[in-house]
Amino acid sequence: CKGLKECDKEIFDALENEFVRERDGIELIASENNVSPAVMEAMGSVFTNKYAEGYPGKRYYGGCEFVDVAENLAIDRLKELFSADHANVQPHSGANANLAVYFAMLKPGDTVMGMNLTHGGHLTHGSHVNISGVYFNFVPYGVNKETETIDYDEVRRIALECKPKMIVAGASAYPRKIDFKKFRDICDEVGCYLMVDMAHIAGLVVAGLHENPCDYAEFVTTTTHKTLRGPRGGAILCKKEYAKAIDKAIFPGIQGGPLMHVIAAKAVSFKEALSEEFKVYQHTLVENCNVMAETLVSRGFKLVSGGTDNHLMLVDLRNKGLTGKAAEKMLGQVDITVNKNTVPFETESPFVTSGIRIGTAAVTTRGMGKNEMKAIANLIADTLEEKSSIKEITAKVKDICAGFPIY
Ligand code: PLP
Repeated sequence: CKGLKECDKEIFDALENEFVRERDGIELIASENNVSPAVMEAMGSVFTNKYAEGYPGKRYYGGCEFVDVAENLAIDRLKELFSADHANVQPHSGANANLAVYFAMLKPGDTVMGMNLTHGGHLTHGSHVNISGVYFNFVPYGVNKETETIDYDEVRRIALECKPKMIVAGASAYPRKIDFKKFRDICDEVGCYLMVDMAHIAGLVVAGLHENPCDYAEFVTTTTHKTLRGPRGGAILCKKEYAKAIDKAIFPGIQGGPLMHVIAAKAVSFKEALSEEFKVYQHTLVENCNVMAETLVSRGFKLVSGGTDNHLMLVDLRNKGLTGKAAEKMLGQVDITVNKNTVPFETESPFVTSGIRIGTAAVTTRGMGKNEMKAIANLIADTLEEKSSIKEITAKVKDICAGFPIY
């Protein structure tokens, strides 16, 4: 039985190169994080060999006694984290978690409301290129042009007009708190379901920094790999009356066998998330985000909505005469990784965009604090304003990283 290096040198090299990239660069993609060695170990394990269609105690395959232990632990821990009635930990991804809720509760053609992609929503909230937008009649809502925050009066007005069967709250690029109670009130007035996609802020919810959407919504979906700091994957939480429908929608509805190695890793990350240390991490992550935001503002950068209440910010680069595409490339050259992102009322195409999205989840996991946030924000500004050479800035990036090793 050969190891990876002997068996597949090309993949071995790609992995090595990725490790060096992560170690020597500053990762500011808001949807990424660095999992613990324990999570990594559970993921690269013999559970990847096992078929386990069905749910713990009710499988279609023999030999499931140990994967059942893992899945039950993942379910119990996730329910405890969010005080939820029911949890399904099998979604392979956030997109699948969302699709399963739609499949469970909606019929093709039903009207649903979701946040406009260019205002911060996710593809799976009704984009015309996603199955959600093709199979259902998604009506978008967005942010107010002045405040660049969600316009709840407008959400209510649209809801009263289009009478949706479900409203989806949650976003991929929204730097402010979302008022779940306001969404609940609108759903009650209209008589529709509320689904909250808390993928980005799940970790912040655990720490009590943002409200727990499970207190308001029938369905709460999440990814497990962003601020929650678990393996790549998804999960669904719901009220008990919808438990059966949700489980059925995941399997056999839209998925086959669950990824048991990933479910075991989810269980490990949920155990970590139940610790006090995890709450401290979330507080630091938000403070770090604020320091970076303030430093960028002090250097003349414009932030969508003027700031941030969470782990990410959106920089509107129009006053600097730069596109998101150009900025992403310039920062990439100095080993700072961000993603180009549309800004509300975008005038550029999604491949070009006018903004970049910056998040502090991964750098905070590495142990970086306020001083590093200020230094990194200044390096971002120096790069985009071409104040120093690429060589000089890259050296400084490497120097910061050397002080905070990964793995
Ligand atoms: N929902 C939100 C709000 C997201 O930001 C994302 C991913 O970025 C997803 C769902 C989809 O998750 P995945 O990439 O795991 O399908």
